[in-house]
Parts: sequence; C-alpha cells; structure tokens
Amino acid sequence: MQTPTFHNMLTSLIGAASVSSVNPAWDMGNGAVIELLDSWFSSLGFKTEILPLPGHPGKFNLIATAGRGDEGLVLSGHTDTVPFDPERWNSDPLKLHERNNRFYGIGTADMKGFFAIIIEAIRELPIDNLTQPLVILATADEESNMCGAKSLTALHRRLGRHAMIGEPTGMKPVRMHKGISMESVRLTGR
Ligand SMILES: [Zn+2]
Repeated sequence: MQTPTFHNMLTSLIGAASVSSVNPAWDMGNGAVIELLDSWFSSLGFKTEILPLPGHPGKFNLIATAGRGDEGLVLSGHTDTVPFDPERWNSDPLKLHERNNRFYGIGTADMKGFFAIIIEAIRELPIDNLTQPLVILATADEESNMCGAKSLTALHRRLGRHAMIGEPTGMKPVRMHKGISMESVRLTGR
C-alpha cells in the first residue's frame, strides 16, 4: 500500500481529534491518530508497536522501527492537541485549511504535522538497507499530564542514540532544549 500524499496525511491527522486535557470534560483518546500512523509506517516497512497506557483507557504510544543496530535516530512527537474553542477560530479547527501559503487546523504545527513531514522525508529511503535503526516515537498526552512520556520511561527501553523532537521552537533548531519539572503543594486545614 502506498502512503497518502502529504496533504491527505495532514488532512487526516488534523481531522482525527485527539484533545488531551486534565479536565475530563475536554479529554479525548488519541487512538485515531495512532491508527493512522500505524498504518502509514507499517506500509513503509516499519515494525510498529502500539502500547496502551496502563490506567489511561483510550491512550496509546506508538513505536515504529526500521533497521537494526545499537545506535540510531529517534524522531519523536506527541499525538495530542490542546483543547479548542471553535468560536474563536476563523475556520473549522478539525479541517485543514490553506490560506496565504499557510496551513490552518488544530495540531498543524504543534505537532501532528511533524509526522506527515517525516513520511514525506523518508518515503523514498531504502528502509531495508539502513545501517542503524530509524525509530518513530508518537506519544500521548504531552499537553496535559505527560502520561505517554511517563509510561515510556517506565519501560526503561533504549530507543536510539540521537533524538529529534518535532516540537515547534519558533523556526529555530534548539539543541538540548530545557526540560520541565512540575511540583504541586496541597495545603489542608486552616
Ligand atoms: Zn507540542
């Protein structure tokens, strides 16, 4: 099976709503996005694994691997988007719109578009002849509770030597971007 055109992939990804939110009223699963990526990367010859997140029904990580070896490159992204208010959009956020040489739709830049760009970049690569692995990692819930990343680190699995994350950084490549640490303090009583 051939993978769809870049435009069709981006349209499908944007249309597969995958809001994540700590507010259960907004929160959705990411299964539809994972299924699309699974079918596209499988058809390119990758070995794919869909990993359900324990304790988070409807949430999944995907690892797609081509080639073998001890090193390798990981291309990583998250599959969820922030919640949206359609009233505050100039077009339907779940439909890809092209205006003024730009694409509009929820997750176009942050960051479902990255997966379509990966496929566009690698579809002509001789996947069977890689000397080191190429690993695509798609995680859940980056925009909310990070359960995708947490569940992945709990696996203690080494995926590659180098990683590139397709998160937007103002069109400037950033090496070793700072991480994030969150604490919460709950006070009870008077
Ligand atoms: Zn992001």
